[in-house]
Amino acid sequence: MTTVLVLADLTPAGVRSATLELLTVARGLGDPAAVVLGTPDDAAVASLGEYGATTVYAVSSPGADDLLSVPKVDAVAAVAAATSPSAILITSGSEGKDVAARLAVRLGGGIVTDAVSVAAEGETIVATQSIVAGTYHATTEVISGPAIVTMRPNATAASAAPVTPTVQNLDLPVSDAAKGAAITARNAKVSSGRPELTDAAVVVAGGRGIGSAEGLAVVESLADALGGAVGATRAITDLGWAAHDIQVGQTGKTVAPALYVAAGVSGAIQHRAGMQSSKTIVAVNKDANAPIFQIADFGVVGDLHSVLPALVQLVQARRG
Ligand code: FAD
Repeated sequence: MTTVLVLADLTPAGVRSATLELLTVARGLGDPAAVVLGTPDDAAVASLGEYGATTVYAVSSPGADDLLSVPKVDAVAAVAAATSPSAILITSGSEGKDVAARLAVRLGGGIVTDAVSVAAEGETIVATQSIVAGTYHATTEVISGPAIVTMRPNATAASAAPVTPTVQNLDLPVSDAAKGAAITARNAKVSSGRPELTDAAVVVAGGRGIGSAEGLAVVESLADALGGAVGATRAITDLGWAAHDIQVGQTGKTVAPALYVAAGVSGAIQHRAGMQSSKTIVAVNKDANAPIFQIADFGVVGDLHSVLPALVQLVQARRG
């Protein structure tokens, strides 16, 4: 069986759920191995093993933390040179796509970004993307290997298949190429206590229908009742009613949660581009003709200021 490398993202809270999804996909393509830049602790190694990583390559590059993406490229390229993988899976996102593009050039591999599924057809890796605001699926065969694929978080569910991984340590000095740009300051973001928007299984998004900055509170309370993240349309981030970093859409973030609740959102094409791949879409809008209802699985025609609090009460009652 050929090796399939997964670039693992570790956070202080543990292995990112998107990495566990990649390992789940990698199991269907070959023998999954994780590449970690740094030294994973026992809990991280155990998590990677729980989702099927037979080998964890821990690449130590002192000083890499203060550099941008190139040390990750160097780490994966070094492991790829030793393992000749058929595919390399990376989580989509600005850094993931940067790493993937550089790897594709370095390794001469075909690249597909923002895939929603990846399969092996014989020896060929086939990736599917959801394109044109989710209205088409494009299927791509990667004909020069290794296939380098970035996958959208939440596109697939992570499922466990426990193994005990072998840990291989690799020392890799930081390359000159990696020193081209360095991080000079870090300002910690004030934590909302909610999951990351792009990782969240549930997103509750507010649009101009919230009526005011204060109106976002009702969206936040439903997100909190469901353990989800808060999203926003560009209309309300431009109005200053919500922070720009929670904008969903063509010029914002792309999300594909299990549940997306759009409240007071008209469903403009640019908004849909960032959320149309969500598994279940629920729309709350007082206009029965709002375009969002065309892509909604469930819809409520009504005032979000009464519908959302009622939903919160129902969720809380169910949870006891
Ligand atoms: P509106 O279109 O004004 O819709 C508000 C909705 O709320 C209406 O359907 C109304 O019926 C409903 N409503 C009002 N009151 C209530 C109530 N009390 N209860 C329930 N429903 C109510 N937009 C994005 O979101 N993301 C992007 O990334 C993005 N990128 C763009 C890029 C470009 C180049 C351009 C040109 C535009 C972009 N836009 C983007 C803007 C986009 O075209 C829309 O203008 C925007 O998405 C509309 O936001 P909205 O749905 O909040 O507002």
